[in-house]
Amino acid sequence: MTARILVVDDIPANVRLLEVRLLAEYFEVLTANNGPDAIETCENGKVDVVLLDVMMPDMDGFEVCKRLKSDPATSHIPVVMITALDQVSDRVRGLEAGADDFLTKPVNDLQLMTRVKSLVRLKSLTDELRLRASTTRNIGIEELLSRDFATEDAKPRVLLIDERKTSVERIQKMLRNTAELDVATDPNAGFFQAAETAYECVLISTAFSDFDALRLCSQLRSLDRTRFLPIMLLADEGEEGRILRGLELGINDYLIRPIDQHELTARLRTQVRRKRYNDQLRASVAQTIEMAVIDGLTGLHNRRYLDSHLQTLFDRAVARRRPLSVMITDLDRFKSINDTHGHDGGDDVLREFARRLRKNVRGIDLACRFGGEEFVVVMPDTDGAVAEKVAERIRAEIAQAPFAIGADGKAIEVTVSVGVSSLLKGTDSVAALMKRADLALYEAKSGGRNRVVAKAA
Ligand code: GH3
Ligand code: MG
Ligand code: MG
Repeated sequence: MTARILVVDDIPANVRLLEVRLLAEYFEVLTANNGPDAIETCENGKVDVVLLDVMMPDMDGFEVCKRLKSDPATSHIPVVMITALDQVSDRVRGLEAGADDFLTKPVNDLQLMTRVKSLVRLKSLTDELRLRASTTRNIGIEELLSRDFATEDAKPRVLLIDERKTSVERIQKMLRNTAELDVATDPNAGFFQAAETAYECVLISTAFSDFDALRLCSQLRSLDRTRFLPIMLLADEGEEGRILRGLELGINDYLIRPIDQHELTARLRTQVRRKRYNDQLRASVAQTIEMAVIDGLTGLHNRRYLDSHLQTLFDRAVARRRPLSVMITDLDRFKSINDTHGHDGGDDVLREFARRLRKNVRGIDLACRFGGEEFVVVMPDTDGAVAEKVAERIRAEIAQAPFAIGADGKAIEVTVSVGVSSLLKGTDSVAALMKRADLALYEAKSGGRNRVVAKAA
């Protein structure tokens, strides 16, 4: 895993120190000696993690962090604050400025590497989602980023898995106003509860009398439903080794007892904010993928989908020397249906037509709304004679029973004309195949409609 790390510190010797250690782990390193330079470097893109000194003249680390986190172009870049003082108040200020994590000087090597690696991993997931969300909708990343992700309104649902009564009570008290907290005292029950409920974070104590908390973490990471659920470990002093193992297993954060309320709430907020951001990106990706390829009126694939897949089906048929046929259907006198029964009536006809069409083709056939009242069906492994029979079956299915439209289910007669073409041996192309189907359709129309014409292969 390689990544580009920006080190920001006003003292060149400090920069150099971190740079050497990161280079030794094969990270790429960029540097900045003051806040404004750091912000500019981040704006220019390609920074995966920022290591940010708190104490700098003019613009301190808190301010730099705040600015990075409030600009949609840089807000997704993880920031690790480096504080000279091991002071809870500093950490809390950092987390409140939006920092994703912090380290204390002198920076412990193992902590540096595990923190940086876990943030890089998270960032690469977010990057991939951002990329997919923007490319599938074919819009600029700027538009996506400027979208207002409502990430902060509702109280998060949190699960605490901890068997110690006093510890449970303390945490319940601390989170009384900031989270909807459920508690599981049995680790196995807690695992199922985490899988069955839509939690936004799970807090796991390391202190079970006869159960290894890390096993629970690894189970949660391997289950699909909880793969992206943030896990925070509540550990005791002296458990650094287990925490490191936990970070390797993919836990997102940890707290060491005695737990400070401000630190707990700030860290929880960071995890929840990040989860909500990623969830929204993920939903947006799924939605745009669907919107991009499905026709909203009929639920069939749309023309864009056909355009991107027909060539693949065509190439596959040629490569395997298998037949392939295409039919284009066009409703007869559809304009007069619209004129007589209104546009909504016309839409009802299109939906019902799509339903009957779907019923009469196989799962491997690709049925699409080509536009208006034209539909295309691509039939792999189907020669011209069979395709003509299928087309005839569809034509008959449409003509044989009237369509019920409107609220009162008025019955109207609908007919369809169909052109069929098949892959030619020797030279052929997608464009030529479609052209032949279109010509056949034209012949069906001019020959009196409500009929099938097949272009002999
Ligand atoms: P032909 O038998 O020659 O195909 O005649 P036609 O009236 O079906 O053909 P034409 O292409 O002249 O008219 C198609 C009509 O389909 C025109 C257009 O307003 C209508 N149309 C296109 N898309 C939709 C739609 O989504 N909903 C509805 N209700 N009508 C649509
Ligand atoms: Mg038409
Ligand atoms: Mg028509």
